[in-house]
Amino acid sequence: MADSHRDEGVSALVDGRYDRAGDLYSQAAYAELAECEGKGRDTFDTEGRGWVGYALDALVVAAVAYRVAGATDRARNRALQGALVAVDQRDNVRSGVLAAACEEFVGDFRVVAGKTEAAAEAYDRAAAAYERADPDDPLEWSTAPLLHAAADTISHLSRNTSAAVTWDDLHGPAPSRVEYLTHRAGFRKRRMPAILRAVDEAGRLHPPRGTTEHNSDDWVCPDCRTNEVNWIGGEVVCLDCSTRMERP
Ligand SMILES: [Zn+2]
Repeated sequence: MADSHRDEGVSALVDGRYDRAGDLYSQAAYAELAECEGKGRDTFDTEGRGWVGYALDALVVAAVAYRVAGATDRARNRALQGALVAVDQRDNVRSGVLAAACEEFVGDFRVVAGKTEAAAEAYDRAAAAYERADPDDPLEWSTAPLLHAAADTISHLSRNTSAAVTWDDLHGPAPSRVEYLTHRAGFRKRRMPAILRAVDEAGRLHPPRGTTEHNSDDWVCPDCRTNEVNWIGGEVVCLDCSTRMERP
């Protein structure tokens, strides 16, 4: 079950209240970092597999939401906060594959802060760190919370834009080889700036994809008239345009 700040953040995205969404996703991140969500996820547990990824994801989404709202200073502030958390995790808490994944987040935060060159350097460090870690089971590692959260981030930001990203796009075709992970970093380096541009141009950040239903008999979009449903954060919205669905 999603936490309440995040759920409320989803509703704010649906309503196009991006300032509010930035606040709520910030609070979701802070609550997660402070272990206030009651899930027993210790931010500084060096043995864990990186639940902190969901806080980092929330900070990226917060920063982008503020950016769409035109709150440029707050967007930069959240991006800087997020990068500081990710760097601390990389240097003092995580190691190996998980430290590499922290660099992916550092790259994302740099992109959102408008530091494209520093972002590219972070993504390059991520790829190099994955190669050094060279895990036996890259596919299994890709589902660790830290890596899964980072995959969620890029797929969320790119939703319903011309630069939409799937899990397979991000990981490439070779799940048994380290390229499965290094591909993530190279892909992000190439695509994150374009995704941010697409969001800027649309002036819109959609809610994330949750549980979906195709050709629903029970719901129809009052805007584009499709019956493709996205259940997310307690909302029932159109998969294509994120308008709240209605009964037919
Ligand atoms: Zn629609």
